[in-house]
Amino acid sequence: MTIVTTAAEATAARPALRPHWVNIVGISFYHLVAALAFFPYFFSWTAVIVAAAGTFVFGTIGINVFYHRYLTHKGFQSPKWFEKWMAVMAICSFQDTPAHWVAVHRRHHEYADDEPDPHTPVRSFLWAHVGWILVHSPDMSRYEIYARYAKDVLRDPFLRSLENQRVYLGIIVAHWFVFFGAGAGWTLISGGTGAEALQFGLGLVVWGVFVRTVFNWHNTWAVNSVSHMWGYRNYETDEHSRNNVVLGLTAMGEGWHNNHHADPRSARHGHRPWEIDVTYWTIRLFGVMGLAWRITEPMISPGGGAVKTKPAQ
Ligand SMILES: [Zn+2]
Ligand SMILES: [Zn+2]
Repeated sequence: MTIVTTAAEATAARPALRPHWVNIVGISFYHLVAALAFFPYFFSWTAVIVAAAGTFVFGTIGINVFYHRYLTHKGFQSPKWFEKWMAVMAICSFQDTPAHWVAVHRRHHEYADDEPDPHTPVRSFLWAHVGWILVHSPDMSRYEIYARYAKDVLRDPFLRSLENQRVYLGIIVAHWFVFFGAGAGWTLISGGTGAEALQFGLGLVVWGVFVRTVFNWHNTWAVNSVSHMWGYRNYETDEHSRNNVVLGLTAMGEGWHNNHHADPRSARHGHRPWEIDVTYWTIRLFGVMGLAWRITEPMISPGGGAVKTKPAQ
């Protein structure tokens, strides 16, 4: 066994990385299509509102509520049918399958800011933000990390079925057409021309799918990069997690990341009164609607209580 003592030796000891062309092409394609939003042809206020609403439905509910606080950390419980709906919303955010997202994130908690952390900012800001997604890391092969971190997710037949890449990509592509069909169909029903239907439908796709997805990506990625580098700390955890005020707001509560590392299971990441946590409020709303129960509250508070560090879940 090689004993690594310096940063240079750690770099040399890393296995060679191969480009992940599917992710490189997919992420580039989404950014290019999202850039069409700069052309007035695709603009309408309806499309902007649809993008904002989509950020909440697919990003806040799909990724923050479902992938992160529900599936990874088991911060609350929910009915099976609602779990399936949230899973489909998460898939449309194009952040990989439930088992993969959960496995990567549990590994992050276990090794946060050390070399085996999948998106450790120790390598660089860009690596933590997106670089890690653009390469095949040999120690991150799907089946290796699934066996260790995502067995519980894969026991569920529906969530396991989403591992089929045809099903996974099929849902993503299908939702492009739902957005286009809704826009074009509404225009035609309202007496618009074919050209107007095409324009409005494409506008909804550019804003409602591509701009929204890219915005969600950078919010999620920034939790891994920005909130492990910049912000304040309520808790002296044994990694570098930070509470970042900007990200706390734009990522709907996920930016209170130091609180989250200190108490990962809690469904509430905002621990101080002014740490606004829209994701937690959404879970509370689900509770009122009978869609969430056993919602886990923080076990610690700033200035008092024990700090738990680096648990796997
Ligand atoms: Zn973290
Ligand atoms: Zn987490």
